Amino acid sequence: MIARVTLEIALRKEFDYLIPPELEAEVEPGTRVKVPFGPRQVMGCVTALVKESPRLNLRPLLKVVGRQALVTPTILKLARWIADYYCCPVETALKSVLPEAVRKEKASWRERLFARALPLAGDLPRLTRRQQEVWNIIEEWREMPLQELLDLADTTAETVRKLEDKGLVSIGPQISERDPYAREHILPTQPLALNAEQAAALEKIKAALDSKAPSTINPQPSTFLLHGVTGSGKTEIYLQAIARALQQGRGAIVLVPEISLTPQTVERFKARFCSGPLQTLVAVLHSHLSAGERHDEWHKIRQGRARIVIGARSAIFAPVDPLGLIVVDEEHEYSYKQEEAPRYNARDVAVVRGQMEGAVVVLGSATPSLESFHNAQKGKYALLQLPQRADDRKMPLVRVIDMRQEARKEKGTPIFSQKLKEEITLRLERREQVMLFLNRRGYATSLQCPKCGFVAECPNCSVALTYHRSRQRLLCHICGHQAQAPTLCPNVKCRNPAIRYAGLGTEKVEDTLTKLFPRARVRRMDSDALKRKDDYRRILGDFRTGKIDILVGTQMIAKGLHFPNVTLVGIIYADLSLHQPDFRAGERTFQLLTQVAGRAGRGEVEGEVVVQAFTPFHPAIQYARRHDFAGFYEQEIEFREQLKYPPISRAALLTLKGHNEEKVRLSADHVRKEIEKLAGRGSQKVGKRESESAEPVKSGAMSAHFPTFPLSQLPAFHALPDLIIAGPAPAPLLRAETYYRYQLMLRTRQMSKLSRSLANLRETLTLPEDVSLTVDVDPVNLA
Ligand code: ADP
Ligand code: ZN
Repeated sequence: MIARVTLEIALRKEFDYLIPPELEAEVEPGTRVKVPFGPRQVMGCVTALVKESPRLNLRPLLKVVGRQALVTPTILKLARWIADYYCCPVETALKSVLPEAVRKEKASWRERLFARALPLAGDLPRLTRRQQEVWNIIEEWREMPLQELLDLADTTAETVRKLEDKGLVSIGPQISERDPYAREHILPTQPLALNAEQAAALEKIKAALDSKAPSTINPQPSTFLLHGVTGSGKTEIYLQAIARALQQGRGAIVLVPEISLTPQTVERFKARFCSGPLQTLVAVLHSHLSAGERHDEWHKIRQGRARIVIGARSAIFAPVDPLGLIVVDEEHEYSYKQEEAPRYNARDVAVVRGQMEGAVVVLGSATPSLESFHNAQKGKYALLQLPQRADDRKMPLVRVIDMRQEARKEKGTPIFSQKLKEEITLRLERREQVMLFLNRRGYATSLQCPKCGFVAECPNCSVALTYHRSRQRLLCHICGHQAQAPTLCPNVKCRNPAIRYAGLGTEKVEDTLTKLFPRARVRRMDSDALKRKDDYRRILGDFRTGKIDILVGTQMIAKGLHFPNVTLVGIIYADLSLHQPDFRAGERTFQLLTQVAGRAGRGEVEGEVVVQAFTPFHPAIQYARRHDFAGFYEQEIEFREQLKYPPISRAALLTLKGHNEEKVRLSADHVRKEIEKLAGRGSQKVGKRESESAEPVKSGAMSAHFPTFPLSQLPAFHALPDLIIAGPAPAPLLRAETYYRYQLMLRTRQMSKLSRSLANLRETLTLPEDVSLTVDVDPVNLA
């Protein structure tokens, strides 16, 4: 037998190796192996077993690593799909499906020394006072990690060894699972009685689960879009659907955005399944785990001890087997998209994995992505709706304040409108809580000289530096560059001491609040304010227990949080996200406003939202004000239809980057020409981005770098009659982290064909050495 192996060193190829007879029983697709490669030995993963190889003189593989195949056949298939669709090498995809902590040859369970009390035969021997103290503890605990005993008794290992000598204690290694949530105490919960809408939705999901159970055929639509307003009880539906899957002997994966992967969320799942007949461990996977913790969580799943996995993006690859249900909560969230290769979107991978394994997929959101809602409209997904809050609380009243008028009333634009100030005062008097939201951290967005117009910019990126007053520094939010905040205009010809800070960040909001409301307890929550690992929890805990009156924050406080005493939410600058060079700017704004507004009025008192905006009549703001998703969708999809943007088409964003702007620009032009040639077109009408780079192209000088290829080698572009090529144009953020970037956007309805064409293009395209090309399929970040 011959094993086909992908190697971990990134080569876009697979290699064949002979399987020595003594290893034959152990090798299957998914097995990790060590193989010879030239003079080296490298790790790889078996992707297939074949009988024949086109190559001669195969070398045998050296050994099998790990007892259990780490990658199940379905996950392997999924990795292949990712490589094809997202245009990346299989090894890159495989690296994503297996956490580093599991892939490493040496990764293992942590063995720790444990001290254990032995049964006493007869009387306790004479002990010194120290020894007696240690014995008292260990006798009570029976068994504990040695280190914990030493900490608790404030003693040394030597004392414990003495007890061992006396036959009272044994010390030995034992596997100790690193449980990141070990210290929490969880009270079990029971399923809630559902309201009519919840019950109807759950019935449909259960029906799909039942029809997908291994014994039956007759597939029903098995991907659901659960559109439920904030607080409508979606989570309760997830919990009860999971229970059904467990009853069938199948497991579940729940994806939540990293930011809402709070202990509060995890606990809701653990609490439901920590006891009772469906008891199982709940594994948690996210990026803040240590490598050891990740290893242990992963193996708990692989061994079938944890049948529920809750995690961020990469948890979609968890080896749950058999898998019954995948939930993607807040499916519209952009954090499901990985911004490095493989550039997959976990929500879309979830749908594909569901199809591959016959698992039911539930995508939940209060503000579904246009993509998912469009799929529901077309009947690809089944739509389930929960238009009301579960507890019959009303949706909050939303008022939009026209900040242009406020600016006219006062001199200059105030941070707080009259209305917002009044409402805050009222809440402080009534001892209710307030959340204020601004999606921009720092104190001021830029440092400007009013006299000469100087703006402090990042030397590496084409953005202005943000002023952070608490640190007295200018920071770049793209690359992290830091500089001293000057007291004079740095322009040597100007030297104006009245240099000013323009724009607004959360730090300034906090600052102004403490001046306006000196007695209020104000806290800020953004990534600057969170220094230590548990700051997030601590601040939220203080807010929950009423130690904070006003919480100011970025999008970090927009999601999923539930505070009954919050009766006012203020949005400081609602149109901030509208003015982005991105076709999704309106959608993003609508989502953000709706989510933030959803934080208000989750308790007894009705909630109120004050939205401050400079373009108060923008549809995204007005539809959000009326809680009207359907209305927003209708007008937004029309705009996408007119311009053939997703979800009407699918997009691939090609970015060329390098240190020499001229080379990057010429390379981008070259890529466009190649694609046009392959698509069988001459120069043709172009998309809107093209006009931005109207400069004539100087070819010739660079052409030596660009050998051309015969058409026959590069199929498919010409099989895409609806292909739209826009660009090249400078990226909205032309320069980032010292690289210049130019982009092309391709759009078509047939993405898998385009992916294949692009993979071929990439194989054969020659670019100057210091220019690189990235392909982002279904991009969400266009900057
Ligand atoms: P969502 O996930 O849609 O935002 P949650 O599941 O968090 O909503 O529910 C919001 C609140 O309503 C929670 O406190 C939850 O316990 C409660 N809830 C959900 N379903 C019911 C129900 N059927 N009866 C009573 N309370 C419910
Ligand atoms: Zn920078």
